[in-house]
Amino acid sequence: MLQRQKGNWREEYVDSVWRKVWRIKAPAKILNLVWRSLAFCLPTVTMLQQKGVRVESICPVCKMEDETVDHAFLRCPIAMQCWRLILPEMQYRGQSLFHWWDQVIGKTDKAKQAEVAAVCWALWRARNEVVWNKRYTRVYVVIAQAKQYLDQWRHAQKSAACTSFPQLYEGDDSYCWVKPQESMIKISVDAATFQEFNASGIGMVARDDRGDVILARTMFLEGLRSVEMIEAMAVKEALSWIKNQRWQKVIVESDSLVVIQAVRSKVHMKSPFGEIILACRSMLREQNTVSVSFIRRSANMVAHELARAAYSFPDRIFDRSSVPIGVANILDKESY
Ligand SMILES: [Zn+2]
Repeated sequence: MLQRQKGNWREEYVDSVWRKVWRIKAPAKILNLVWRSLAFCLPTVTMLQQKGVRVESICPVCKMEDETVDHAFLRCPIAMQCWRLILPEMQYRGQSLFHWWDQVIGKTDKAKQAEVAAVCWALWRARNEVVWNKRYTRVYVVIAQAKQYLDQWRHAQKSAACTSFPQLYEGDDSYCWVKPQESMIKISVDAATFQEFNASGIGMVARDDRGDVILARTMFLEGLRSVEMIEAMAVKEALSWIKNQRWQKVIVESDSLVVIQAVRSKVHMKSPFGEIILACRSMLREQNTVSVSFIRRSANMVAHELARAAYSFPDRIFDRSSVPIGVANILDKESY
């Protein structure tokens, strides 16, 4: 099909780009979207028109140009803003989507390619929100959705690795959660966003040196925030929880490297995120037996599940016997 549309392209060139796109490590749903966009199989309005469907050819999102795949993924203002943020090194000079992908693959590493593919998927999803629900998605939400979907997928891949390689259970570089040392407490925290309900959730679980749950907790927050923001709020809430409970010798674990590095650094960021980080640092100074640490996502399954449960169980405190069933299942798996 591509050859027919772009007859001057050499077959090997086209094939090699296809192969590289297929090699991107991303969920099938995302690769499928990228493939359809490159094979001109995506139902853009101009494509529908060509098939005889009576629709306006103008882009439903910006209403500035006809909606082709090149427009939807490269020239539509929302797409341009996404690429300016996540791909500042790439300049768009009117090339086709196919050629653009070829350059992306040539200039970026594997992780970035997956991110670009995920943003394409989120852009198309945002476009469909306008078409079907008349709802406009903001640029940062498009990027957040893309990263979140990709993260969840990577997380699931790592959990699969975790069950097939039990030797990875011990040690610092573990893919699975490790009990704290004697007489210490570990609090795992995580955040979740509920895009469709314009809300977020926080989950935290305190466990003792036998790995038993002391208490677990969910918090429900109205309004959408960036993932980093909620992750930072989760750490802050955990630190004030420790203070209120008068717990000593505690490690707060988060899988947000951005947040943990920000808390450990001395940089003052003048932003709402920076304010939360400052609050975390001052609580850590007050409580000198408390520290924060970074863990892999696959080692943070319980808190992850709790954060997601914040939607059904908003603002609740649980003990081991009352945790939601999904959380209990993961706790059982981790009690080795
Ligand atoms: Zn547009």
